[in-house]
Formats: sequence, structure tokens, C-alpha cells
Amino acid sequence: MTEPARKRVLTASILHEANSFAITPAPLDHFRRQGILEGAEIPARYGATRTEMAGFLASGAAAAWEMLPIIVVPCAPAGPVSAAAFAWFRDRLAAGTQAAGPVDGVLLALHGAMSVEGEPDGDGALAATVRAIVGPNIPISITLDPHSNISDRLAASVNAISAYRTHPHTDHFEAGQRAAATLARAMAGEIHPVVHHVRGHQLRGFDSARTSPPDGPMRRALTLARSLEQADPGVIEISLHAGFGLADVPHAGPSVAVTGNGADPRYTALAARLVRFAWDERHNDTVKMHRVDDALAAAAAIPPGPGPVVISDFGDAPGGGGHGDATALLRAILANPPPNTVFVSIADAAAVQAATAAGEGAELPLELGGHTAPAHGGGPIAQRFRVLKLHSGAYIHEGPYTPGVHGNFGPSALLECNTVRIVVTTFQRNILDLQQLRIFGIDPQTCGLIAIKCMDAFRAAFAPFSRAMIACETGGVSSRVHTSLTFHHLRRPIWPLDPDAVVAAHAGYTP
Ligand SMILES: [Zn+2]
Repeated sequence: MTEPARKRVLTASILHEANSFAITPAPLDHFRRQGILEGAEIPARYGATRTEMAGFLASGAAAAWEMLPIIVVPCAPAGPVSAAAFAWFRDRLAAGTQAAGPVDGVLLALHGAMSVEGEPDGDGALAATVRAIVGPNIPISITLDPHSNISDRLAASVNAISAYRTHPHTDHFEAGQRAAATLARAMAGEIHPVVHHVRGHQLRGFDSARTSPPDGPMRRALTLARSLEQADPGVIEISLHAGFGLADVPHAGPSVAVTGNGADPRYTALAARLVRFAWDERHNDTVKMHRVDDALAAAAAIPPGPGPVVISDFGDAPGGGGHGDATALLRAILANPPPNTVFVSIADAAAVQAATAAGEGAELPLELGGHTAPAHGGGPIAQRFRVLKLHSGAYIHEGPYTPGVHGNFGPSALLECNTVRIVVTTFQRNILDLQQLRIFGIDPQTCGLIAIKCMDAFRAAFAPFSRAMIACETGGVSSRVHTSLTFHHLRRPIWPLDPDAVVAAHAGYTP
């Protein structure tokens, strides 16, 4: 008796979230310095992480599939991907897919908010590239970030969509396993998955996908989605997407994808029902934004106790494509420093070079930060700084956000000014892992105040020991105040840029 042939499964992970308003480009070097992997490097480096790719590989090992990993491009949000970098990713993916020969299925990890110079829909272009090579009958199952803007082309190019169900995102691995489970059923001929996708009439929704608030809109939408899945055995998965509102592309904003067994209008109706839920909850935002002075006053009013107060620099968050060097919050802190304060971080390669040349213990004048776009979040701070520590800037996430993944600030320095310790890095990175402070000798739990460049992702690691978390709108390009940004390519009308009544009439919603 001969063994049945092992299923051959092609896999790749190419993740990017592009802020259309960021002026920092994303050339190939931007991705290379965070560690692009190919072929056999992928299981060696990613097998022990908690990423979607690790979920794919674990599922493949359990099912004895022959896994064919092609490429991993780690997520490092910035501006749109340069045309040359994107062509490189796409060509490596296409060449790997062609070289793999016939496959039984495909697992892709995409972000869903990748735009490219000259191409508003990078994710759709990648999925369509793979589809064109493997043909129409090979199932393609993908994971997405819930901050994805899903184009019609992306939805039509794949058979199944599984977005993460947590924000901060701590279930990349589980999303990968779910995508693989659907692929297994499709490869066995048990189901014929088809994506039914409905886009809303909003730029943001589902409370930005936050799942920390126990009774927030996203948790309730997820609960509803699970009950709708259970009520209909034809529903394979309902995937919810809050969208990424800092993308000036026609398809930006919240959407719902129902992966059904075969094509059927009832699946589209389920997606529309959840899109309507997002509309009805559009004003329900669980994080209150503070202006800079209000945030510092609110922090000062928190009763003393163990653990830090964390102020997030929401307007200049590298995780949302912020430049990572805006100074409005740091300037206010330096003017009236709360005790035992750490600011993490300012991206300023020239400042790091000067600090490195001066050496640990030296004091030097700097024009720190604010060089990229002074009009968006504040220009350079001219002060004298003491160099407390120099570091390579390499770290490994301890989690709960993608534990095991390597990160890289580039050469970095811990500086001090007016008693405030400031982490200064070469590259901008979202701050979401305690290791990003510990490598500089900072114990986050013993700080009084931590000011942090991040939107929401830090909450998973910092909430357990923080006295309070305060969100601060600082005027950078990841600000939520969309009225200060000009959209040229977005479909209209859309909420909140156009009046409720106009959007509701366009959508056909009765009050
Ligand atoms: Zn996200």
C-alpha cells in the first residue's frame, strides 16, 4: 500500500501598514533592517515565535504537509512602500511560487493596509500575483490585521480570510492556525470556501478594533460574529476589520468578510449586518484623547502608588506610520518634568551619532528630534543632554505581542535632560514590548511616568502594572483628527469626513 501524497502548501508573510500622510518612505532597506527572511531561514528564525507564520508552520507540521515557505517581510509601518521595494517583494513571491511547482494550497499572512507608490492596493496585488500563478482551483487562505483596508481585488483573489481577534494583537499565531484549518478542509474537498466581503461607509469603526474594554464595540461585534457562525454551518469564518483610516486609498475603512461554503447571498447579508453594527456604534470610542497639557495634568492628578502612569503619544505612533521624532509631548515634559520620567523614544540618527562620538557620561548640546515634519507634532528641541548609555538597539520581543520576534532600533542612546531619561534611536519603531526599555537598563515597573510612542499596542504589556494609561493627541501624522489631513483618493461620502445624514442616505440606512 502506498502512502497518500503529502499536501504541498506554499506560504509567505508580507506585512506593511502604510500611512499616506507619512513622508518617511519605505524603501527595501526599511524592511531589510527588521530582517527579511527567505526559504529555510523562515522556520529556523520564526518557528519558535507566536506569529501567523509560526501558526502556519505548526499546523503544517501537525498535518504532515510539505511546507514551502517563500518569504517573510516583517511589519514596520511607515509611508507607502517604494515602487522598487514592492517590485522586489512581488517578484520574490512570484519566483518562489513558480519554482515550487504544483501545490495543493496557499497560506499568506498579509496586513491589509499596504499601499505602494503608484499602487493603492499592495495586498490585493500580491494575492492576485499568487492567484495568477497557482490558478483558480487552488485554495488560498489568508490572515489579516484587523486594521486592514480590503480591496475588492484582495477579497476576490482569496478563498478565506481570518483577521486577528485581539487589539493589542496577541493572537497572530491562532489566526494562522485558523487559516490553516480552513485550508485543510478545502484541500480535502470538504468545503469550497468563498469570501463575501462588504465594506462600510466609514473611515474608522469598531472602536479601532480594541478588545481591551470588556464591553467595547469590538468585543460585542466579535461575540455576535461567533454566534452567527454557530447558527449556520455554511459559515466558515466571519472576519471583522476596523480599517486603517490614515490611508488615502479608495477602499479604506471598516469592512466584514464572511467566508462561506460556496457562494450564497445569505453570507453577504451577514457581512452587511455586521457592517451596519459598525455604523450604529460609530461614535463609541473607548479611548479618550487628551491634549498635551491636559494629559500631563491628568497624569499628575493620578494618586501615587506603585507602577507608572503611561502617556501614549498617539499622534506620532510609529505603529500607525508616525515619523517617531515629533517633539510636542517631550517638550512639554522637559518644561515641567514629573519625577522619575522616561520618554521612549525619539528617532534621530544624527543625535545618536553625536552621542556615540561623545561617549557614555559625556554631556553635549543637541537639536533633538522634530526634523522630519516640524509642522506635524513639533520641531527640534535645543538642549544639553547627558549620555547615560549606548546600545546596539537590537532586542527580542518578550510578548505578549509577537514574542520571539527580533526588533531593531539601530544604534541607540539613553540620554538625560532635566532629570528625564530619553531613549533616542536610529530607526523609528512602535513601542509595545518591555524589552524595548529593558535593553537600556530601564525597569518599566519602577518608573513614575512613561511617555511612549504608540497608539494602543503597548497596553498588552504595560497595562498589568500601570497605574493609569492616558492617550495624548500630539499633532503628528498618526493623529486621529482626520479633519487636519486632506484626502484625495478616498471614496465619498464617508463618515466622519461628511455629515452623518449625507452618508446615511448614501448607504440607504434608515435611522
Ligand atoms: Zn493592527
